[in-house]
Amino acid sequence: MENRVDVASLSDAGLLDEQRAIAAHRRQLDVRAALVAGEIERRSARALGYDGLAQRAGFLSSAALIQSITGGSRSEAARLVSVGSSLDTPVGAAVLAGDISVDAAAAIGRGLGSAGPEALPLVEAAPSLTPEELFRRARDLRDELDASAVARREKEQRDLRYFRYSTREDGTVGGSFRFDAVDAALLVSALEALTSPRRGGPRFADPEQAARDAALEADERSTDQITADGVIAMVRLAVDADPGTLFGARRPAVRLVVTAGRAVVEDSGEPVSMATVERFVCDAGVIGVKFDSGGQVVNVGRAQRLFTERQRIGLAVRDGGCRFPGCDRPPSWCEAHHIDQWARDHGSTDIADGVLLCRRHHLLVHNNHWQVTRHGADYTITPPGGTARPMPTKSRVLEKRAS
Ligand SMILES: [Zn+2]
Ligand SMILES: [Zn+2]
Repeated sequence: MENRVDVASLSDAGLLDEQRAIAAHRRQLDVRAALVAGEIERRSARALGYDGLAQRAGFLSSAALIQSITGGSRSEAARLVSVGSSLDTPVGAAVLAGDISVDAAAAIGRGLGSAGPEALPLVEAAPSLTPEELFRRARDLRDELDASAVARREKEQRDLRYFRYSTREDGTVGGSFRFDAVDAALLVSALEALTSPRRGGPRFADPEQAARDAALEADERSTDQITADGVIAMVRLAVDADPGTLFGARRPAVRLVVTAGRAVVEDSGEPVSMATVERFVCDAGVIGVKFDSGGQVVNVGRAQRLFTERQRIGLAVRDGGCRFPGCDRPPSWCEAHHIDQWARDHGSTDIADGVLLCRRHHLLVHNNHWQVTRHGADYTITPPGGTARPMPTKSRVLEKRAS
């Protein structure tokens, strides 16, 4: 409490002086902490085995022991150990002399992999750089000094690549991944293109691109959600485009099993709503599987698709993308929505009975029971209890013809 009163009574200049004084103290304390950490490391040396200080205290490393005492992060403890054990180097001398901070010395060590005389230009530059900038500068210097190391590190990076995922109890899938810098560049440029204006990407003067950017910025989904939807859209494109070489004969797909009003995802057994079933049936059709009274399969029907490939091409040309008002998703993102829902009406399928909707708007239409209605060559969409809105075509071909 006393401290608070004390601070509140300081002038602006006094306040900043106080901050500077604390920072100077902290730097001195850091140096002392590094000295102590270095000594703990020496007394825990691997050569001493179980007699080492850390081992005797029940820790695998000096960093783990130090962390248990400071309550700080493991990386902070590791920083202290690494700087503390290189105090008799040129970089260490600069730390002891108070020329650079422990953080700066650690950044040099991580970036350059050395605290020797070759690090002296970095020591000189350190006071005007943040530890992050210093780290990058150190890494650049390392690459200059040892060109062959670049190829070696590239291979090390590549060996670290992985993509791990697992299904959780609730049927959702999560995971983590790591790619080398080259593959990552492809992935990141694709992901950033999906969300460009959100991530402060380049803005284009082109009015079409500007309109797309504006729509993305107004999008109510979070940037992470847009990215997730984009990744699924990329998978769907790849599945559609693959001639059977990448995925083999059994095309990846979501298969839903519907029995007696209950629907589950085939592989995970996770239940899904009937609205989701309707959306799937609407776009992809169903395969009827008949059982006899003993539960034996007696007949597997053909896939009854709503629209043939040729009809889908027709839809794509006619609609030019999602026909939901204001949506600009191209045909490749779209599913075909049957305006007299197929599950209700097993009649023949005519192109006039379908409109393209992007996955999001298709979900919206089914989940919220919006109604699409045809009026000759035009379509409208009506929310429950709301008023009809026109669904203009996005097709350039048809626009041209009209003008
Ligand atoms: Zn539909
Ligand atoms: Zn849409």
